[in-house]
Amino acid sequence: ETDINYVKELFYNSVKDPQFPIDDVRILQEALRRAGKRIRIIGKPTDKIDDTVEVDLVPRPPPSKDELKSRPPVVTVMGHVDHGKTTLLDALRHSSVVEKEFGGITQHIGAFSVNLDSGAKITFLDTPGHAAFSSMRSRGANLTDIVILVVAADDGVMEQTLESIKMAKTAKVPIIVAINKIDAPKADVEATERMLLEFGIQVEKMGGDIQAIPISALKRQNLKQLTEALILQAELLEIGGDPSGLVEAVIVESNIHPFRGKLSTIIVQRGTLKKGDVLVAGTAIAKVRSLRDADGKPLEQVPPGYPAEIDGWRELPSAGELALEANSEKEARQVVKYRMTKMELQKSLEEARVIEQKREIHLKEYKHRLELKRKAGRYRMRPEGPRKSEYQEDSGQPYLNIIVRADVDGTLEAILETLDTYESDECTLDIVNYGVGPITQNDVDLAKTFNCVIFAFNVEVPKNIKPFVEENNIVVKHHNIIYRLIDDFKQEINARLPEKE
Ligand code: GDP
Repeated sequence: ETDINYVKELFYNSVKDPQFPIDDVRILQEALRRAGKRIRIIGKPTDKIDDTVEVDLVPRPPPSKDELKSRPPVVTVMGHVDHGKTTLLDALRHSSVVEKEFGGITQHIGAFSVNLDSGAKITFLDTPGHAAFSSMRSRGANLTDIVILVVAADDGVMEQTLESIKMAKTAKVPIIVAINKIDAPKADVEATERMLLEFGIQVEKMGGDIQAIPISALKRQNLKQLTEALILQAELLEIGGDPSGLVEAVIVESNIHPFRGKLSTIIVQRGTLKKGDVLVAGTAIAKVRSLRDADGKPLEQVPPGYPAEIDGWRELPSAGELALEANSEKEARQVVKYRMTKMELQKSLEEARVIEQKREIHLKEYKHRLELKRKAGRYRMRPEGPRKSEYQEDSGQPYLNIIVRADVDGTLEAILETLDTYESDECTLDIVNYGVGPITQNDVDLAKTFNCVIFAFNVEVPKNIKPFVEENNIVVKHHNIIYRLIDDFKQEINARLPEKE
């Protein structure tokens, strides 16, 4: 029990970071332990002595069905290398009506949206292969609604085809197969479909329910059929998004533009993103300055399912990160501060854990060494060792029998290790017992039988044992500073040595 400033000081000295808040009791205890202090913590472990406000942004609970408006499906193209993923994405991008009207130069921003003649819209992730798919998913962003599995009709199912199938299935994302390169001389659509069947992809023609569209990405054949299949699938899935309230989006890509600065492509999942909105992604903040589509065309607002390239980031957010709208810049700053603090806390906890692990290993090693020494006859661990006053009777040599008790492993280890360096022909040291925690009945029994001095570091003699200790004149030496304990130990040894002439 002590005043909080003292604890604070100890704590800061321990973690060497004055900005660090005390909001984890384990960290605090570790700090106190490192400082060799034994302090009872009063109050709640979460009591703050720092001005960090505990504000975080989290996604809202899922919207109810009637809040959902139809939105474009988000599609990822996957498949084996060279089967035509990039060619297909190019073909799809150029099929966009918007692009034709606007006449802009399409750039790679990580995602683009296609307007179909029917008025329907589809959003494509513009990074082929499963890298994008898995990096998004590893951060928990379930961005993809539908996977287009590209399989070259002249090559069939290959290694990465199988990987893609596995990933889509694990993520429970429906697949539409695009059997590509039907224009190639060796193309065999049916053989490809049979091969797919072998690997659990049963297309409609084979009696299954997976749509397979034979296409030529290069010749731009059957692309309309492919996009129609996507829309059909999207309708089956009843894909919808809630365009109201605070924005939730996923960072698809981030990069630094030589003139426009820090940019990121996002796909909105909820709410409607507008200029001036404040977003927090991880520990990055943006006050959205402008929104553009893949053709560079400025956008007023971005509803769910649509991609946009936005600027206004102060730091570059990571791909896959969830970007959440804050009510104000102030709130955003608080959230980032809180998140950073939490990250540091976790790091510190992790460090403390590693230290603890090392300590345990040390102690184990120490015990092992002690055991070896015991076997070699240097220490004699009781009670299986020699009887009381054996040394005196046998050789008349002075001896010191001790028991060591400490509050934590680390200190016990430190004490034992120091004692371990003791070596003398004149006085035999015998560590009869040692352990972590309060003195036990067993300790005092041993002390009585083997005439031991008990060294107690930061531990008490429990009330029920006290009478026994007093009756039997057992010497218990209390210490709370290691070097004092060691000094005391040396004095005990010296007291047993014959007087020097
Ligand atoms: P990715 O590695 O899956 O992205 O494959 P690419 O799109 O880079 O295509 C690999 C090669 O296949 C390129 O030489 C393309 O021109 C070619 N290719 C793509 N689609 C077709 C197609 O429909 N027919 C033919 N004949 N070749 C194609």
